[in-house]
Amino acid sequence: MITISDYHKIVFFTGAGMSAESGIPTYRGTGGIWNEYKWEKYACQEAFLRDPSIVLNFHELRRNEALKCKPHAGHEIIKAIEEEKPSSTIITQNIDGMHQRANSVNVLELHGSLWRMRCETEKKVFDDFQSGTYKSRKCTCGGWLRPDIIWFDDMLDENTILKANSAISTCDLFISIGTSALVWPAAGYPRFAKDRGAFCIEINPEDTELSILYDLKIRTTASLGLEKLFNS
Ligand code: NAD
Repeated sequence: MITISDYHKIVFFTGAGMSAESGIPTYRGTGGIWNEYKWEKYACQEAFLRDPSIVLNFHELRRNEALKCKPHAGHEIIKAIEEEKPSSTIITQNIDGMHQRANSVNVLELHGSLWRMRCETEKKVFDDFQSGTYKSRKCTCGGWLRPDIIWFDDMLDENTILKANSAISTCDLFISIGTSALVWPAAGYPRFAKDRGAFCIEINPEDTELSILYDLKIRTTASLGLEKLFNS
């Protein structure tokens, strides 16, 4: 469908739909997490300061769910392309670490990771792959550790944004997979890639608000779309 040798720098831009086939629910739409849980209670700094146990328990649930899931064939295809084209970058809005679990290396996590915890007092970040109870999420300084993810109302990490901008501004193929592209600044990335001259592809079973700007739209799931694009 495309000839990979025609392209030198690929950006894979992934959202919650990329992980849906692994069994991780999307946040919006049918079965979306925010239909069941209100982010104001579970996913913002204000809620964490009000009652860390509620927020940490919610994230323990997310971690336990993610641990039950595995990368799917689509993650493996991206990993294989990354091996073939080491200058590829994966820019993900997902916090589940699924690309890394498929052994992808060059992954920019715009919204942080469920698998890192952070002490705000000591300004330290820890890898943490264990599941546990909220009670185990204490720093040695005595303060609560919070997940190192971007909650509602949080600022994104400046360094990650700079790297994402740099990857997009120099890519010649931009493949958006499973994102509704409603969350900023990620929502601006497809337009940015297009304006910089990249060939832009959208893999998503449904139309999105940005569908109109893509050069090629593949209306199927992440794994089938990637299979069609690279292995047929
Ligand atoms: P979103 O929930 O707004 O949109 C998901 C998109 O995926 C939709 O357009 C939907 O049509 C599409 N989709 C559904 N199933 C698909 C499939 N099998 N294959 C391909 N596409 C499919 O997700 P978003 O745009 O990523 O924005 C949500 C925000 O929530 C992000 O900021 C992200 O950080 C966060 N989030 C992360 C996870 C995760 O880590 N897995 C899960 C949910 C939400």
